[in-house]
Amino acid sequence: MPDKARLIPIVRPCMDEREADAARRPILAGWVTQGPEVAAFEREFAAYTGAEYACAVSNCTAALHLALLAVGVRPGDEVITVSHSFIATANSIRYCGATPVFVDIQPRFFNIDPLLIEEAITDRSRAILCVHQMGMPCDLTAILDIARRHSLPVIEDAACAIGSEVLFNGKWERIGKPHGDIACFSFHPRKLITTGDGGMITTSNPEWDKQFRLWRQHGMSTPDTVRHNSKEVIFEDYPALGYNYRMTDIQAAIGREQLKRLPEMIRRRRSLAERYVELLADMRGLELPEEPDWARSNWQSYCVRLPDGCDQIRVMQAMLDGGIATRRAIMCAHREPAYAREPWSCGIAPGDCECPATTCARLSQSERAQDCAIVLPLFHHITDEEQHKVAAALRKACAV
Ligand SMILES: *Cc1c(COP(=O)(O)O)cnc(C)c1O
Repeated sequence: MPDKARLIPIVRPCMDEREADAARRPILAGWVTQGPEVAAFEREFAAYTGAEYACAVSNCTAALHLALLAVGVRPGDEVITVSHSFIATANSIRYCGATPVFVDIQPRFFNIDPLLIEEAITDRSRAILCVHQMGMPCDLTAILDIARRHSLPVIEDAACAIGSEVLFNGKWERIGKPHGDIACFSFHPRKLITTGDGGMITTSNPEWDKQFRLWRQHGMSTPDTVRHNSKEVIFEDYPALGYNYRMTDIQAAIGREQLKRLPEMIRRRRSLAERYVELLADMRGLELPEEPDWARSNWQSYCVRLPDGCDQIRVMQAMLDGGIATRRAIMCAHREPAYAREPWSCGIAPGDCECPATTCARLSQSERAQDCAIVLPLFHHITDEEQHKVAAALRKACAV
């Protein structure tokens, strides 16, 4: 058994006394959910991403659910997305009673292949849900061009992509402006900045922003903050079915501190990624992640493709035995039991598809990425010595 205390973890949140002090503020002020800290976090997040509106919610899955509802996704509709993502991406579509239509990825960048989107569009298509996987912006220019031609709204699953940048109309801009219609972020501890759990929705559409605020608090017409500050008695009403997707002020206070650290975090991660290139570029058969011309990644995850013939689980076990945590690359929703038994899961009409349950010829690049790549440790406080250790262990584990 590796010594847990000495294990190099896959990720470790970057937090200290500053976040602990921030959490004291709402606790001692007495307003602990969806109050002034949440409002301030939203303003600061909007300013950082360049968005007109930012609405805080309980997590990114909730954000995706509300984004899909806002653009009109309803039961029976189809939403074009990738299978190659954390399962929450596809789940959010099913929460709306709609069907995910999976498109394969570009193997070099682990993101949706824009050339395959058009053939997946049908008269039931209602939206495109693209993912900036592992923080790497997808090809928004190409995707938005297709979406506009077919009058489809674009939702960006930016769970991992805070602080990543995209070259758009000749200018570098942060993900979340948004470039599509709505972008959704996560503050889970696996992402760059964390509030324990949490999410944010950005948009330029004031009507949708109003909708998000209604839906996140049970569909209640008058927020608590308004009633609290009113000199007159106000009764709220509930004009629409809502949800409890609130963020607490304790989370938001922590998030505001995390946001202040973000520029430094991104500088650090970009230099750690460059260091991996120096340490691993000469390793035969290993494919390092690369940035397309249009993207600057925040390197939320550093995912390498193993040389041909290297067994993924054996390599990961050898590294774990050497005290280094790794993760299998991104999963494929269509291979999970919750999806594989659905007739639509691989996008070919039932009866026309001859693939066994957990493989799909149309998603072969997604499956290959899942089977042949691993994520290496990369976090703010990783030391040069630890990166050396990771690189040495990877070489050893792959040398068969
Ligand atoms: C983490 C993640 C999510 C879910 O985020 P939560 O905040 O945990 O709900 C959704 N999509 C992608 C691509 C993710 O990486």
